Amino acid sequence: MIDKFGFGCMRLPMNGEEVDVEEFKRMIDAYMDAGFNYFDTAHGYVSQKSETALKECLVSRYPRDAYILTNKLTGNFFKTKEEIRPLFELQLERCGVEYFDYYLMHAQDRDHYAHFQKCEAYEVAQELKKEGKVKHVGLSFHDTADVLDMILTEHPEVEVVQIQFNYMDYTSPSVQSKEVYEVCRKHHKPVIVMEPVKGGGLVNLPDAAKQVFDELGQSLSYASYAVRFAASFEGVFKVLSGMSDLAQVEDNISYMKDFQPLSEAEFAAVDKVRDILNSLGGIACTACRYCVDGCPKHISIPDLFACYNAKVQFGDWNSDYYYGVHTKTNGKASECIGCRQCERICPQHLKIVDHLKEVAQTFEKQA
Ligand code: SF4
Ligand code: SF4
Repeated sequence: MIDKFGFGCMRLPMNGEEVDVEEFKRMIDAYMDAGFNYFDTAHGYVSQKSETALKECLVSRYPRDAYILTNKLTGNFFKTKEEIRPLFELQLERCGVEYFDYYLMHAQDRDHYAHFQKCEAYEVAQELKKEGKVKHVGLSFHDTADVLDMILTEHPEVEVVQIQFNYMDYTSPSVQSKEVYEVCRKHHKPVIVMEPVKGGGLVNLPDAAKQVFDELGQSLSYASYAVRFAASFEGVFKVLSGMSDLAQVEDNISYMKDFQPLSEAEFAAVDKVRDILNSLGGIACTACRYCVDGCPKHISIPDLFACYNAKVQFGDWNSDYYYGVHTKTNGKASECIGCRQCERICPQHLKIVDHLKEVAQTFEKQA
């Protein structure tokens, strides 16, 4: 079995504000029963509830050597070198483990990297490795290929690199998935893929794109082409799927258990779908939700962007209704005060303030 399927724990099943632990347990059991064992989390995921949910649903129910657990050092949670170790110890405690298999320097871009350098974070990570509290040190990355090349040149000790990689971003001049992947190959680093379905954007396709895949005459989900696209590349060690219910786990298992790389005809179909999606516009938000907690106007930014994309890309008449749902207790797009707190944290480097103006124009013009 080629095991390239990782469990991303940033979009867990929810019961209101809390993680639906019973559903999460069912998802973990199905995933483990199928022979997979790689879990990815971070301190901030699911408003800091991902780590404790893993403790309850995975760590307390399986022996430590039955699974691989990756956690990350996130720049927002430390200001100085001295604050790194207490944060790390808190992460171990929240997860209920004695060590992490992988510890990644989280969301490295030019600015975050400067902060990590200033705090000697890479050096602290190596100390933790020597102490056996971390088995492997890596990084996750959101910037242009030249920045990754610089980091990997300055830190050859990095063992693995997690990158955003999917069939849309592969040719994107801003995300540069292809070029970033090539830098990983140049430095001989195994690649972990995140956002293979672009935050769900490659699951709910417009009709013209669905037709391209339907014409292949296979009974595979649209998501499957996106996940298998990423897993088809040489050197890709894991493809993370951020799953939110058991059905998604089962769908992923159905084509990742006996993984087959995309055929030539499937690669050609993916190229056609990419052209169709590129012709429709839309905002390249991956719904990571990093921006949500810090917004002083409580604007549910990714949900409003999803409404906008549903309207412009898929002509979804229901999107006006959902815009109302997401602005009922949260801020409207027009209430943005332009503080740009969200833009500083957005790993996609989106011009959120400008996009919110487009969103306001689209949904609030009658108001
Ligand atoms: S710029 Fe607007 S959306 Fe972003 S954090 Fe500030 S108020 Fe919220
Ligand atoms: S706007 Fe940026 S930070 Fe916010 S959810 Fe989308 S991609 Fe993530």
